[in-house]
Amino acid sequence: SGEEVASGGEGVRVMVRVRPPNRREQREGGAPALSLVGPRTLVLTEPSRLEPVVKSYDHVFGCESTQEEVYAVAGAPVVEHCMAGFNSSIFAYGQTGAGKTHTMMGEACASEAGGLHPDCGLTLRVFAALFRAIEDVERGEGPQTLRYRISCSFLEIYNEEITDLLAPGPALQIRDGDVKRGVYVQDLSEHNVLNADDVMVLIQRGSENRHIAATRMNERSSRSHSVFTCTIEATERADTGITSTRTSKLNLIDLAGSERVGRSGARGDQLTEARSINKSLTVLGRVISALVERQKRPAVHVPYRDSRLTFLLQESLGGNSKTSVVACVTPAAESATESLSTLLFASGAKKI
Ligand code: ADP
Ligand code: MG
Repeated sequence: SGEEVASGGEGVRVMVRVRPPNRREQREGGAPALSLVGPRTLVLTEPSRLEPVVKSYDHVFGCESTQEEVYAVAGAPVVEHCMAGFNSSIFAYGQTGAGKTHTMMGEACASEAGGLHPDCGLTLRVFAALFRAIEDVERGEGPQTLRYRISCSFLEIYNEEITDLLAPGPALQIRDGDVKRGVYVQDLSEHNVLNADDVMVLIQRGSENRHIAATRMNERSSRSHSVFTCTIEATERADTGITSTRTSKLNLIDLAGSERVGRSGARGDQLTEARSINKSLTVLGRVISALVERQKRPAVHVPYRDSRLTFLLQESLGGNSKTSVVACVTPAAESATESLSTLLFASGAKKI
């Protein structure tokens, strides 16, 4: 099979991260199924394919990649974009255990003296940079003054139902039609944050509340999408005293595991879960590829309304928004089929 280069609009970036083999994979696994060829290309050996599959992306992070590197490539451009007043979303996609939560949140979020913990994930790194950038702007002298206000919300979509991870309670509804607010979740709690430590507290509280159901794949597998949203309000006061406010949103999304139903042996409730997960991930893939296509053909229909996740995020996808996908894969031979499906999702997101 020839090399396929996923290329598309500026507004969508697709990256792949390969996590290191875990202890069990090192013990039991033979040769890894995945290898890197340079910083953009991956080769996957999958049993059902006669030839290796070669795919290229905007960036590929190998198993030795650090959280810092992932931030520099995937996170830093988003911080700039938000500071400039535009919306952004970063999605982590992949099978359970492939490193989505590690990439988005990381294991240890506590900041150490002199900086962030090396394992700290994208979310906190993004906020640390955001607060630094704001401090620089607010300190700067000029005829106009900019003041920022940042608030966060953290929700979960489980079986197409939305719950507030920071104020657990009954399922919440999405509202649309309000000209000023656009699409929003009714009664979702909003929390003002002044620094990265405030954000860390919210992440920890929300993560504890995340839905976790056991499957045969991984006893702590996450069957829900979590959406961490940051709203940045920049108010500019001119010499004349006139003020204007600009709002931008940044969404950090840890998607539910993409593994297929049959493989994890799901039944009953788990099957319902798996079906709504598959549906929302499929819709997400269609929305992203429609956004890429729309840059060439503006009349293309973007099926935002086909899932809660894309409906909720529609104002942060497309237009002047930046959308990034970090597709997470394991290097293990036993996961080659799931890794292939993740790589196909990632290429499909950008292929026209
Ligand atoms: P997911 O959220 O996709 O189910 P996790 O992020 O929980 O997967 O990762 C599964 C396990 O692998 C965790 O124990 C995590 O710490 C570890 N892990 C994942 N990615 C990496 C990485 N890049 N480096 C080191 N450990 C990782
Ligand atoms: Mg997870």
